[in-house]
Amino acid sequence: MANSCTVCNKPLTFMENITQREHKRCKDCNKKFSSIQHYFLGVIQQDTLRNMLTEERAQALYREVQQAGLPGDLYEPVITRIRTERNGIVQRELHHFMEENFRANTLTADKEGYIHSRVQGW
Ligand SMILES: [Zn+2]
Repeated sequence: MANSCTVCNKPLTFMENITQREHKRCKDCNKKFSSIQHYFLGVIQQDTLRNMLTEERAQALYREVQQAGLPGDLYEPVITRIRTERNGIVQRELHHFMEENFRANTLTADKEGYIHSRVQGW
């Protein structure tokens, strides 16, 4: 039985049925979403290399990716990548924050609470 594309509903061709057995997307939809995925992965990589990926920027990208409508199998790797980078940023920042407070002997319960809330993140 012929399958239809799960995105645009177009019947899949014989070849698409074989190559897209798992995700069931036509060639055009697959191409479109793959290029969106590559775009985001490229942006994350460039920002990371240029040391421009701040937590705010990561959060903005996260929202953009959520709005881009990527199918789950393409969405997950991008979101995982953003989360990983974001966690790295927060960890470095908190490490610095703790060191400074530890050295100045100003690490209060309030600040520890703040650190915990930041680690949990989004
Ligand atoms: Zn399609």
